[in-house]
Amino acid sequence: MEKTFVILKPGTVQRGLIGEIINRFEKKGLQLVGMKMVQLTPGILTEHYSHLSSKPFFPSILASMMAAPVILCCWKGADAVAVVRTLCGVTNSREANPGTIRGDFGMSIQENVVHASDSPEAAETEIKRFFNAQELYDYESATVHFTYAPNELKD
Ligand code: ADP
Repeated sequence: MEKTFVILKPGTVQRGLIGEIINRFEKKGLQLVGMKMVQLTPGILTEHYSHLSSKPFFPSILASMMAAPVILCCWKGADAVAVVRTLCGVTNSREANPGTIRGDFGMSIQENVVHASDSPEAAETEIKRFFNAQELYDYESATVHFTYAPNELKD
């Protein structure tokens, strides 16, 4: 099954929203297979946000992502990347639909509560970038047969 990578951003930690956000992914039926709290550094963030390095707001994103520790998570499930992106909503929290994480908990483009991988390829790269193999757990979900039909469990 597919894995995806999520960061609960510094603002989420500071605002006491960690539980609320984790709860949404859990209730949806995603399986948590890795989680840790870290202080991000310029090196790893420059790699992670390399697609934005020419943008005028790049220094501001880096500062924002280092303003407090973050929570890194790896979630597993069928089509996990797309499912998590849908749960998060669009980048600009003010435009994100109600019911999405950004729509319900944000007012900002930059301070938009979460990062989530935007493709299966990006997820693979990001999971490797932020976790080592011993920090990811391959365990059987006790509820998997109540979460999926048999034909959804093929891969
Ligand atoms: P997403 O996080 O939705 O995949 P991007 O990869 O385009 O979006 O941007 C990465 C992060 O950079 C966003 O989550 C947001 O925190 C920040 N960002 C994007 N666009 C802007 C902008 N115009 N102004 C300020 N910050 C931005």
